Amino acid sequence: MMKEFNGQIALVSGGSRGIGKAIVQALAEQGAEVWFTFHSSEQSARELEESVAQAGGCARGRRVDGASFAEVEAFVNEVLQSSGKLDILVNNAGITRDNLLLRMDEAAWDAVIDNNLKSVFSFTKQALKHMLRAKSGRIINISSIVGIKGQAGQANYAASKAGIIGFTKSVADEVGSRNITCNAIAPGFIETDMTHGLDEQRKKALLEQIPLRRLGKAEDIAHTVVFLASSRASYISGQVIGVCGGLNR
Ligand code: NAP
Repeated sequence: MMKEFNGQIALVSGGSRGIGKAIVQALAEQGAEVWFTFHSSEQSARELEESVAQAGGCARGRRVDGASFAEVEAFVNEVLQSSGKLDILVNNAGITRDNLLLRMDEAAWDAVIDNNLKSVFSFTKQALKHMLRAKSGRIINISSIVGIKGQAGQANYAASKAGIIGFTKSVADEVGSRNITCNAIAPGFIETDMTHGLDEQRKKALLEQIPLRRLGKAEDIAHTVVFLASSRASYISGQVIGVCGGLNR
C-alpha cells in the first residue's frame, strides 16, 4: 500500500518520550524513514527503534544535545550523508525550569532558551542548507499555548515558545519562494511527563477552562504534524495551529 511519506526522510528532535515519540511513530507509520534525537533516555530511544521496526517502519535515535550548535550540525550532517536528503524537520525537543521570575536564576533562563529556542535555530539552519537546494521541505516547530498567552512561573518557557512563533513566521517568509513551508503547532495541556507533575486541584481547575474538558494526547499533536507534513497542507505556511481543546480562542 502506498503510504503518505514513502521515500521521505524525517528528523524529529526529542523523540524518545511524550509528544516526540508519538510524532516519530506517526511519521514512520506513514512510511517516512525517521531520525530522532534524545538527551538522556537511551533505553526509551532503543525501545522506540525496536517497536517501529516491529511495525515494519524505520526509526533511528541518536544522543544529541539540542542546546549545542556543534552537536546538531554533526547530527544533521550524519542524516544527510546516510540518507541523502531531508524532507521533514520537526523541532519538538523542549524542557521546563519553572519558577517565579524573582526566584528564577540565570542557569534556568539559559537552559530553557538554549534547549527550546536556540535548538530550533540550529536544526533549522542545518536542515535548510539541504532543503533550499532541493527546493522542497516541511519545517514544523512545536511551540505552546503558553507562548501566546503567557503563564506565571514560566517566563523563560513562555519567552522561548513565543520566540519560536516569531522564528517560524520569519523563516516562512524567507524560504516560501523555494517551496518550503514552516509552521508552528501550539499545544495546550497534553498528557506527558512534562505535565505529570500537575496536582489534582490544578488539573480540575484547568479542565473546567478547556472547552473539550480533557487534556490532550500526544497523538493529537502527532496527527497535526502528519497533516502539516503532507501534500494536503502544501499551501499552509507561517501559521500557528492551536491544538488545545479550544482553550486558546
Ligand atoms: P517530555 O515528555 O518532557 O519529552 C521531552 C523530549 O525532549 C524528550 O524526548 C527529551 O529527551 C527531549 N529533550 C529534552 N532536552 C533535550 C536536549 N537538550 N537534546 C535532545 N533532546 C532533548 O515533553 P513533551 O511533553 O513531550 O513535550 C514535547 C514538546 O511539546 C516540547 O517542546 C514542549 O515544550 C511542547 N509542549 C508540551 C506540552 C504539554 O502539555 N506536554 C504543551 C505545549 C507544548 P530525553 O528523553 O532523553 O530526556
